[in-house]
Amino acid sequence: MSTRRNILKGAAATGALATFGVGYADTLKKLAKGHWSGERPDKALAGNAPDPEYRIDPETGDLALNPDQALSYTMCIGCTTMCGVRVRVDKTRNEVLRVAGNPYSPMSTDPFIPYETSVRDSFRAMAQTGAGQGLTNRSTACGRGNAVLQQVTNPRRVLKPMKRVGPRGSGEWQTISFEQLVEEVVEGGDLFGEGRVAGLREIRNLETPAVEGAPEYGPRANRLVWMNCVDDGRDNFALRWLKQSFGSNNFTRHGSYCGGAYRSGSGALFGDVKKMPHAKPDFSEAEFIIFAGTAPGNAGNPFKRVGALVAQARATGKLTYVVVDPVLNNAQNAPSGNRARWLPIKPGTDGALAMGMMRWMFENDRINAAYLAQPSQAAADAAGEANWTNATHLVVVEDGHKRFGRMLRGSDIGLAVAGEPYTDADPYMVASDSGPVPAGDSAAPLLFDGVAGTAGGPVAVKTALTLLREEAMAQSLDAYAQDCGIPAETIAGLAREFTSHGRKAAVNSHGGMMNGSGFYNAWALTMLNTLIGNLNWKGGTMIAGGGFPETKGPAYDLASFPGAVTARGLPYGRNAPYEKTAEFRAKQAAGRPYPAEGPWYPQAPGLATEWISSLVNGYPYHAEALIFRNTNPVYGIPGIAHVMDRLKDPAVVPLIISVDPFINESSAIADYIVPDSVMYETWGFTKPWGGVATKATTARWPVIEPRMAQNAEGQRVGLESFLIATAKRMGLPGFGEAAIPDAEGNLHPLNRAEDWYLRGAANVALLGAPVGDASDDDIELSGVSRIRADLEAVLKPGEWRKAATIYAKGGRYENIEQTYTGERATHAFAAPMQIWNEAVGSFRRASTGKRMPGTACWRVPEFADGSRVAEHYPDADWPVKLVSFKSPLQNSYSVGAKALLRIVAANPVMIGRDVAEPRGIATGDMVRLTTPGGQLDSVAVVRDGLAPGTVAIEHGFGHRGFGAEDITIDGQTTPADPRLAAGVLLNDLGMMDPTREKAGVWVDPVSGTAVRQGLPARVERIG
Ligand code: SF4
Repeated sequence: MSTRRNILKGAAATGALATFGVGYADTLKKLAKGHWSGERPDKALAGNAPDPEYRIDPETGDLALNPDQALSYTMCIGCTTMCGVRVRVDKTRNEVLRVAGNPYSPMSTDPFIPYETSVRDSFRAMAQTGAGQGLTNRSTACGRGNAVLQQVTNPRRVLKPMKRVGPRGSGEWQTISFEQLVEEVVEGGDLFGEGRVAGLREIRNLETPAVEGAPEYGPRANRLVWMNCVDDGRDNFALRWLKQSFGSNNFTRHGSYCGGAYRSGSGALFGDVKKMPHAKPDFSEAEFIIFAGTAPGNAGNPFKRVGALVAQARATGKLTYVVVDPVLNNAQNAPSGNRARWLPIKPGTDGALAMGMMRWMFENDRINAAYLAQPSQAAADAAGEANWTNATHLVVVEDGHKRFGRMLRGSDIGLAVAGEPYTDADPYMVASDSGPVPAGDSAAPLLFDGVAGTAGGPVAVKTALTLLREEAMAQSLDAYAQDCGIPAETIAGLAREFTSHGRKAAVNSHGGMMNGSGFYNAWALTMLNTLIGNLNWKGGTMIAGGGFPETKGPAYDLASFPGAVTARGLPYGRNAPYEKTAEFRAKQAAGRPYPAEGPWYPQAPGLATEWISSLVNGYPYHAEALIFRNTNPVYGIPGIAHVMDRLKDPAVVPLIISVDPFINESSAIADYIVPDSVMYETWGFTKPWGGVATKATTARWPVIEPRMAQNAEGQRVGLESFLIATAKRMGLPGFGEAAIPDAEGNLHPLNRAEDWYLRGAANVALLGAPVGDASDDDIELSGVSRIRADLEAVLKPGEWRKAATIYAKGGRYENIEQTYTGERATHAFAAPMQIWNEAVGSFRRASTGKRMPGTACWRVPEFADGSRVAEHYPDADWPVKLVSFKSPLQNSYSVGAKALLRIVAANPVMIGRDVAEPRGIATGDMVRLTTPGGQLDSVAVVRDGLAPGTVAIEHGFGHRGFGAEDITIDGQTTPADPRLAAGVLLNDLGMMDPTREKAGVWVDPVSGTAVRQGLPARVERIG
């Protein structure tokens, strides 16, 4: 079948066609012929098509470059997928003309070409010459990726440093010099005529505690807090400045209002709720996939690759899949017949479906008992399993026991342990006929409910699988069906189908889990994978292959440096145990340790959702300065509008700096905006989040000259130059002349972005078996000649050509043959799956003092005080559920690419017929949507393809930033563009949690993630 490994077949072969350009040239010729009625256009093949970037002579295979264009491999950051792409650059105009895929990159191509392929041959590989060519090595950018290059020339870009004029958020700015910016933010002073503001120099105090009498919060330096978006490949640079040089421990990303609930649920299963590992289906080899709350080719990460692989697998006839979602979108493809089905589900109830399926699997003996019964790596190895679980491990379930919810360990029953209790030396225990015994190298009983003799007397214990089974059996199949709106026989049929393919079936999920039960819903869905034992198997689920880290390589140490600070202190988002705080100690001493003044989330990673609450309430403490870096929580967090106005008061957070290429909804309330690079002007290294089983690092480099203003030293103003300048002014370690150690211990300078990223490229190139040297031809063809002088100046003679290879090929990619070793994934996840996660099963909610289940389960949504959301907002008053969905085109920051608005100009509200007809709503009517969190008016589209009782809003519209409102700079007003403001934003209807003592939005109780799927709502026709 597919020629996954035969991918350069015919690359240089001759063909019968005449000389032609790459890509769509032939198609466009035909189109042009028809369009111009036989007249041949003199240059362009279609209205606005630029000349081809190169031509290949089919007779000789010779490549002829277009001398006016460079063709460079780099990275798209049009969304968080961050694909490897190739861009055509008009060298004279310093302009990106077109974007397509990088054929070396698995994010854009499958099969991707071998890394050893020369750049010249990579161009040939994409041409249509020779048998097996044409679409075989097609490498694509998505629709958004083709459009977002418009952001480079967006007239509303911030190109010079700006300082607010008048009150925060008034929309009035003045441009200032870079040097004034650096001086003011570092030194502080009466910056706005509103009183003295502490500068960064003063805030960076590593001695004075952030909170008097509460050393657990670390030093005052922690009062500088940093909100980031996704890691676009520059976070390591930012983190060096913030944590190791400045000494603040407070950094967070956007995950808690993106897809964090899914990642947290998966993290519980994979045993790491901070890094949140997750696996993806082997889309190419699986026979059956359930996509829950994520649709292939529509959303999720990497949506473009997943869409392509699923289409490919579906076309071969092997893959069948079901999309479980309240909204039918383009994932259900009619021509694929019954190989793709849509299963409508009530919003936010995926856990009921998953636990119903589990119940059926337990009752019908359709779990992979042979896999689940292996209690250790040794046992799994002996049994030929590719992974193992703690299904057989015993859990303490004795009410009131100090280790309730924890795993029974050898020391608990008095075994001599060669090390500290509850460390790796202390064995986990399994059941046996003679009582608990250490987990050994053979199978153990899966189900046990009894007692274990301990030094303190008999203690009730159960195996982890027993506890999961009890959760599954807690409701009847009919009750699960009632809760999720899917008939019991359909749930049973889905479970039967899922368990009919051995290990070649999988469940996939992502952003659809952002609901009030998201954490447990995600854990339940991912648990289905574990119950059939599909992890690390071809056709099952596989983790990402990882990347080639740039910071800690054989050439340079970018991860540490002389004088580096160790940042410390509990995190600002309260994703830490409340029991470590002075507040707990005081309340415990007073006899009532719970509830805390606000919720804490020890089982969560950094929480932007909770940061805004921390900022406006000063809980656990007040921040003195806030940096937004290319992020937009004001737009992204449902319900946050209820508290955001308080941030406009400088007394709440005295200094807000935004590093951003645009004035989005969040940078609009900043005091200063530092302009930044976009897309093809910027540096960075990323690796795929998931869905790529081979190692891959994508490299981004400025293929065009950045447009931002220059500082006095001639450097472009941006993130790196700002951080370097502020660090040098404050005399922070890790920047300046002696900052970067090499392998011999010599120190090298960090005065420019190139000093960092080019050394990172050398590390990427030299890791393991080093990559080959880039030839002059590679350098010339890929446009790396633009940075050749820098490569030679910064790097050593033996390094620079290898680093040049990284940029010439747009990264470093392990070859596709490394995907599998036999029937297994080459890059396997080694740690055991957590049927019971003792960290989750033993912590107490700070807001209630109560424990949460330590295994997958179905729980209806709750507020922070443990009360059910439905008690506050009953269905009788709020009869519909509101959800958001994504199209493959628009995201939260792409609206400025106006080509996208020409395809979809706004987002009318999608209403199902069962909701619309009784209310007399027809397509085109104005409707009013009301939730407990807000109200908005929009145009209705009445359609099929929505679950009963559901109203849906596409994400990415309803902006107030990016030019959707007037912007005044230096007295000149750029009027609002109504196209940028078009549509509505579901987050305006997001809800506060009415049970919280200190204001905060409604979040999932374990993962602290935002709730946007399943908002209780009303809808009415208003015109
Ligand atoms: S999926 Fe599209 S927009 Fe996102 S990074 Fe890839 S090409 Fe760019």
